Formats: sequence, C-alpha cells, structure tokens
Amino acid sequence: MDIVRIGTAGIPLGAQPRTSLGGVRKLVELGLDCMELEFVRSVHMKEQAAKELRAFCEESKIELTVHAPYYINLNSREPEKVEASKVRILKAARIGWLAGAKSVTFHAAYYHDDEHEHVFEKVKQELAQIRQILDDEENHIRLCPETTGSPSQFGTIEEIVRLSVEIPGVYPCIDFSHLHARSQGALNTYEDFCQVLEHVKERLGRSALDHLHMHLSGIEYGAKGEKKHLILPESDMNYQAVLQALVDYNVGGWLICESPNLEEDALLLKHEYIQITNNNKGGIKNG
Ligand SMILES: [Zn+2]
Repeated sequence: MDIVRIGTAGIPLGAQPRTSLGGVRKLVELGLDCMELEFVRSVHMKEQAAKELRAFCEESKIELTVHAPYYINLNSREPEKVEASKVRILKAARIGWLAGAKSVTFHAAYYHDDEHEHVFEKVKQELAQIRQILDDEENHIRLCPETTGSPSQFGTIEEIVRLSVEIPGVYPCIDFSHLHARSQGALNTYEDFCQVLEHVKERLGRSALDHLHMHLSGIEYGAKGEKKHLILPESDMNYQAVLQALVDYNVGGWLICESPNLEEDALLLKHEYIQITNNNKGGIKNG
C-alpha cells in the first residue's frame, strides 16, 4: 500500500527559527511528513545549509520537494529569458538534490499567441536539455512541470503527462486546485479526480502513481483562472474527493498544501486522509 506524504509549501507558520531546518523541526512536532522548499523568488540556499538539512531530514524521516522560481518561461520570445529560466530550474534542481529533495516543480511556460502544439515542442526541447545536463551531473531529482491554474499558461494535464511520456526523467506535478481553477470550477468531483489519475496511469503506467508530486489548497478563480489561494474549508475545493481518489488509486508521493494557513490545512488533509484510508481497509477499488 503506497502512502501519500502530506506537508507544507515552505516553512510552517508556527516554526521558529524561520529557517528550513526550523521548519522541518516543526513538521516533526506536528506529525506532518514533508515540506516543499519554496525558491519562488530566488534560489537562496547555500550548499552547507542544504547538506545539514539533508542529514536532519534523513534522521527525522521528513521528505523534501522543491518549487523553482516563478520567473520561468521556456517559451519566452527573448532567448536570454529562456536561458535564464533554464538556469533557475537547474539551480533549484542542484541545491534540491544536495538537500536530498525528491522532486522539483515549476510552471514551465506561457503560450503567448503561439499555437499550443508549437509551445509543447519548444518546452519539450528545453526541458530535454535540462534533463540531459542534470543526468550528466548524476543528479536524478525528478523534474516535474506543474499543471497550471490559468488558461494563458502552458500546463494542462494532457500537456504535462505528454511531456512525461516523451522525456524520461520528467514526471507530472499535479496541482488539483489549479486544474479546478483552470476549468473555472468545473473539475471538482470524485469522478473528475479519478479521471485525472486514470489518465496518468494509462499514459505513464501504474508506477507513475507510486511517486506523485501533488499540490492542493483552497483556491479563488475567475474567467482567467487562478486568482489566489484560500483556506480549504473557506473554498469550494472538494478536497475530500481528491483524497478519496488518491486512496482508491493507491497513490503514493508528496501532497503539498499551499493554503495560506499552511500547516493547519495540511493537518486537516492528513487527518482526513487517515480517516479515509481506515474506512477503505479491506478493498482497494482501482489500485
Ligand atoms: Zn506552483
């Protein structure tokens, strides 16, 4: 039986000191399982700090994932911006690997006015190069482009899964809240979430569900998709249905909570997940 590790997007709010190490200590205290290193503005961690973090995480059984900077656009019209984007992903992947992180996620690109197929090919080409560089360095961190929350951003579930099919070492990061926001609220039932997991399983094989990088939070959205993250119980996000689907598909991996109250919603998810798991004992439906 695979398990989903549940944790926070960055250092829990109640952690002191406000360092990654302090954050991991707080997670242990709270009974959470993982943390995403949020390098969303820049990759600021030093090598020594990454090594210390790795040692402490191994000891305390906390797993790490990484969010690379927001300023990434592998489809920029300006070649130097594409290069800078690749450097940002590489930097996040390198320091993450040193810290023992399993996976690095990022928002890959914007469509601009380009044909989506053209954008796909461009992103694929750049991402394959990044993978090659990391492989040459024997850096095996999972490269996980994320499903995005706005129709102007590259990152439908089909695109992200297809990239993963076509580039070995690339895997999907599924942000369920983004899928919900992108569809302007349409995608939100148990059947919808099962379909997403079914798509991953069909195209990538059962093993892709064993180590899945995922995001979940409450979300506000409009005609242009994602607006901002909300606290889960104050949003229309059907997180219980997401968790039920994860249990029924026997999904394993990392579920990162990006709600503004971080650890509070992460704990809510964890308690609910444990409850559903206990209720389901004796029969896995779709595993
Ligand atoms: Zn993200």
